[in-house]
Amino acid sequence: MSLYQKLIRTHLQSLKPYSSARDEYSGKEGVFLDANENPYGSVAGEDLNRYPDPYQWEIKSKLAELKGCQPEQIFLGNGSDEAIDLLIKAVCEPKVDNMVILPPTYGMYQVCADIQQVEVRKANLTLNYQPDLTAIKEQIDGQTKIIWVCSPNNPTGNLIKEELILEILQSYPEVIVVIDEAYIDFAKQDSFITRLNDYENLVVIQTFSKAWGMAGLRVGMGFGQVELIAMLNKIKYPYNLNLQSQRIILEALNNVDLKDQYVSQILVQRELLAKELSKLEIVKKIHSSDSNQLLVEFENAKEIFKTLLESKVIVRDRSNVVLCDDCLRISIGTEVENQRLIVELQKI
Ligand SMILES: *Cc1c(COP(=O)(O)O)cnc(C)c1O
Repeated sequence: MSLYQKLIRTHLQSLKPYSSARDEYSGKEGVFLDANENPYGSVAGEDLNRYPDPYQWEIKSKLAELKGCQPEQIFLGNGSDEAIDLLIKAVCEPKVDNMVILPPTYGMYQVCADIQQVEVRKANLTLNYQPDLTAIKEQIDGQTKIIWVCSPNNPTGNLIKEELILEILQSYPEVIVVIDEAYIDFAKQDSFITRLNDYENLVVIQTFSKAWGMAGLRVGMGFGQVELIAMLNKIKYPYNLNLQSQRIILEALNNVDLKDQYVSQILVQRELLAKELSKLEIVKKIHSSDSNQLLVEFENAKEIFKTLLESKVIVRDRSNVVLCDDCLRISIGTEVENQRLIVELQKI
């Protein structure tokens, strides 16, 4: 029995998925009378009248080259949030199985689990925001199906140490270890995607929402073993990535340099902003960041958050989050935006 035969929920192994018209014939040429589309055109004036490729193969073959994996190892979703949701749906039996998260971390793991009635167990990060291997061990049992590791982490901004991730991957070979690399482009560390062939239990998540600047388009990526990816494709909505998104992503993949330029600009701004913030007396600590966010501890974060809001500078209040007392999370803006923030903070 393969790992994923064991992990994937039994009723899904034998699921007969929806077979779309585009499943049955994938050629581009022909007289298409199979999908009840409007043959004349679309009201929007663009050629949107045809259903898109349900498996987005054109994008995946380009992405596979860029990321160093096989097209069949890639899942594309309506944001990486879709990949998160479907991973839980694929392997966690509601009210029976559980998953482990490492707070403070991205909120969607818990939300998706709560919606699906899957138990969430918490192994808080240490004070320097690294995984606590003992705490993780205490949470894991035979019903644990997924461990979520966010690296670089949100909202703390730091990378998780490579050797700790490897330790987790090796310690729990029968549990899926998801590395959420939403911010990996900003970090001086390689993606875990290239290790997919070394660890059967490894899943990597990335997104076009952050460094690529396409949050509005809603496209995210999941990378894993072919068997697992095939299952995610089986349980997703047939046309989860719309035609327009697919076209724009294909374009964007010809322009990796522009993404890299944006990343460089943001990193320069991050250092400038950290320097300016460190001059302020109300700032108690600036956590070191490997991403496009700074977690900053203030004298009185809630008050500062409100005051900033009144002057229409919006940051994220994380002061109620575990291990983030009195912290605000600040996304790196443009030079002008960051200066506005500093000016408003100087007034306080
Ligand atoms: C922003 C973010 C995502 C991306 O979500 P999308 O649905 O792809 O926009 C995923 N994980 C983390 C940790 C994030 O911060």
